Parts: sequence; structure tokens; C-alpha cells
Amino acid sequence: MKHGKDGRFQPDHEARKEWGEMVELYKKGWSLNMLAQHLKISSNSVRWRLNRLGIEIRKDFRLGSKVGEHWNDILKLYAEGWSLKRIARRFGLNAANIYSAFKIRGIKTRTSSEALKNAARLGTTKFGYGSANLQWKGGINYHSAGYWRVRKPDHPRAGTSGYVFEHVLVAEAKLGRFLNKGEVVHHLNGCKTDNRPENLRVMRQSDHLRKHHAATVESRKRNENY
Ligand SMILES: [Zn+2]
Repeated sequence: MKHGKDGRFQPDHEARKEWGEMVELYKKGWSLNMLAQHLKISSNSVRWRLNRLGIEIRKDFRLGSKVGEHWNDILKLYAEGWSLKRIARRFGLNAANIYSAFKIRGIKTRTSSEALKNAARLGTTKFGYGSANLQWKGGINYHSAGYWRVRKPDHPRAGTSGYVFEHVLVAEAKLGRFLNKGEVVHHLNGCKTDNRPENLRVMRQSDHLRKHHAATVESRKRNENY
């Protein structure tokens, strides 16, 4: 690092690179301490550098140790489109803690529609099918019974709300016809939000009830929850 005659900071090429990276990381939410460790200088030096560059120093909240431990990976995965929930699951963390760490550091979180697009792109939820196979136009919501619904006001099964269960639409797309009265869609793996075509089986309602009854008895025997 060099100083000009007027004492102003005049970084050489290497310093420019390093300081630039430091600013980028700081803006991404790294703490002074994390930067200090990364750059192998004291956190006071980091603060001094940032001051010199006219960067406003955040009030530095300490990250919870578990969030802090995975912070770089958290940022990386979030940038790749992972949801906070998925990241939390990955590292055994609480999504709310990650969220507040983001807020405190001024990291913009995705809007729900951005999150939806990411989920579709990553195939992390059945949204991928909703959007890809069904010319999904953006109306989707989560039904209280734990199913996804898609807005299709002109569908025979659309209620007054105009929504149809997504698993119904996927099953119908697979069959190439509307479901008949008395036909229901069963989720083979037991996951009600997994609407991949291969996970759906159209059944008569009576067979379906029998199947679920048998499955419940079986899982109780094995003391499983599903
Ligand atoms: Zn079922």
C-alpha cells in the first residue's frame, strides 16, 4: 500500500484487488472478524481500510456460532438459489436464525416469486412441474391440507376460488384426460407435495381409502410417522 504526497490512500494493483475483494465480501455480509481472519490482519485494520474507502461500517452483530461456522457456505448456496429452509436443513440450523443474520447484515432476501422461480429451476419442489408442464401462469398456493393448488378457473374441479390441486392437474396431464368422478390421486411416496408424475397414481376413491388404511396400520406397527 502506498500513500500519495497528499497522504491519500493510493493502492497499487495488488492492494486494489485485495481491498476490492474485502469490500465485496463486506457487502455480502461478512463481519469485520471474518474479514480479519481471511486477510490475516486485525479487525481494527479491516475497519480502518473500510473507513478509508468510505464504506459505512455496520453495527457488527455477532453471528450465532452455528450460523457463523457455515456462513460462507450459506451465502454461496443462497446465491445459487437454495431456499433458507433448505440451507437450514442442510446444516442443521434454524431458518429463522439465518434469516435474521441476513436482515442484520442488510442482505436482500428473495421475494416469494423469485423463490418460486428458483425452486422450479432447481427442481426442489414440485413447482417445476407446475410451471413446466401445465403452462403455469403464476397462480399457485398452498392448501391448508398440505397440497399445492394451481389457479385454473375453467377447470371442471376448480372451486369458487378457481384453484385446482396440482397433483390432479399433473395426473390428468399424464392420463391425457380429466379425472372422472370418484377418481383420486395418490402420492406413492407419501409426500403430499411431491407432484412428480412418477409419484402420482390415479385410483378409485374406495381403493385409495383402503390403501391408506392399510398403510396407516403398517406404519403404526413400525412406529413411523408419515
Ligand atoms: Zn393417497
